[in-house]
Amino acid sequence: MHIIQYPHPTLRHKSKPLRRVDAELQKIVREMFDLMYEAKGIGLAANQVDLPWRLFVVNAKSDEGDADRELVFINPVLSRGKGSDEDEEGCLSLPKMYGDVRRSAQIVIEAFSLSGEKIHLELDGMLGRIVQHEYDHLDGVLFIDRLGPTAELAVREDLDDLERRFRTQRELGEIGSDKQIAARLAELEAEYC
Ligand code: ZN
Repeated sequence: MHIIQYPHPTLRHKSKPLRRVDAELQKIVREMFDLMYEAKGIGLAANQVDLPWRLFVVNAKSDEGDADRELVFINPVLSRGKGSDEDEEGCLSLPKMYGDVRRSAQIVIEAFSLSGEKIHLELDGMLGRIVQHEYDHLDGVLFIDRLGPTAELAVREDLDDLERRFRTQRELGEIGSDKQIAARLAELEAEYC
């Protein structure tokens, strides 16, 4: 498992709800946390590790020592967005790029935890922002899609670099064709969704 980068097509995949959580999925979630800490991230969605499920992990402290802050959101639903707030965001799938993104100041999220318990949280501040960013991933939306024209211009060159890198990786056979990727995602959906 590794973190995929823009413009990998799985980042644009609209994820499907999970129908079951088994030991294999629990192992995958553990690996997602480990990858996130390694990359010094604070949130990671399943799409970002090339998986098609509505699932993301968060630890606002980005610290393995703070395991009690680990949050897993399965099949999340966001509602009651209130107010609005602008702040800088980055993304592990868009390295070294940052931009101001406008989000709801307050949200309510309902989801299931890894142990199948119902989660109902009212969030604001940094945690509210992370959750909205990760939730976007599940719909195939990236923070660069929410930038204003000036901020978009500022990251354009970095995006071009990533696009060139992606094309090279494809030519070298390190990344499969769109068709191969779609077939793999469909298989994983058939197994769990
Ligand atoms: Zn992200």
